[in-house]
Amino acid sequence: MTNTLPFPLAPEPDPALLERGRKLFAGGADFLKGVVAMDGLPPPDRLEVCFAGRSNVGKSSLINALANRKQLARVSNTPGRTQLINLFRLDDGQMRRSSTGDHSLAEEPVGTVVDLPGYGFAKTAKSIKGDWPAMIEGYLLEREELVMVFVLVDGAIGPTKLDVQMLDWLRYNTVPHTVVATKLDKVKSSKRATRRKEVAAGCMLDPGDVVWASATKGDGIDRIRGLVRTHLQQ
Ligand code: GDP
Repeated sequence: MTNTLPFPLAPEPDPALLERGRKLFAGGADFLKGVVAMDGLPPPDRLEVCFAGRSNVGKSSLINALANRKQLARVSNTPGRTQLINLFRLDDGQMRRSSTGDHSLAEEPVGTVVDLPGYGFAKTAKSIKGDWPAMIEGYLLEREELVMVFVLVDGAIGPTKLDVQMLDWLRYNTVPHTVVATKLDKVKSSKRATRRKEVAAGCMLDPGDVVWASATKGDGIDRIRGLVRTHLQQ
């Protein structure tokens, strides 16, 4: 059985969208703050997308590749910051969520990329507490500005039990999410078609519903930027 995404992933991304995504990240992505509690989060004036995954899945590398900045997400991997929700501001001078909740175009820039700590899980799909800070569950369930969770799975090794638990939990709680398979360059070209099917099946998705990326080689980066741009425009 496969799951249906809450939105379609375009098989052939629109070049204009890719360009808007590029501009969004080219406008700057700066570390804003790391928080340990919901009340430390910035005011709800911009939409957010977040990136989640086990540690070592390639999350920092992917965020750096998206922002085209070598060290941007290093801050998230710095000891003492690994258990924080780290926020990065995007500025493309286009969109801002107004105080009335209207997402119409305005002068001000918009968008926050959120880097979640690597996760651990309790046994049931009803809770992801485990050794993950409890506030992250709250963040994923309660943060109104959060429009999309990008769940990273290691494309070279496929989804682990923890990844599947994370996906189950997101589905159970109907949290919008997109699976990104990382480290495409580590999969031999001759094995890629099979691997795409295996990883998708492991995530209970159709192959076309998993976005593949390589932070090292740059594959998929434009596409993810375009997706981020689309979601921030909701
Ligand atoms: P994080 O813990 O999820 O933030 O993971 P990192 O971004 O620190 O990456 C973990 C390891 O995987 C590092 O050794 C990276 O160099 C490596 N890595 C990350 N992305 C890629 C990729 O796209 N291709 C390859 N070959 N290695 C990657």
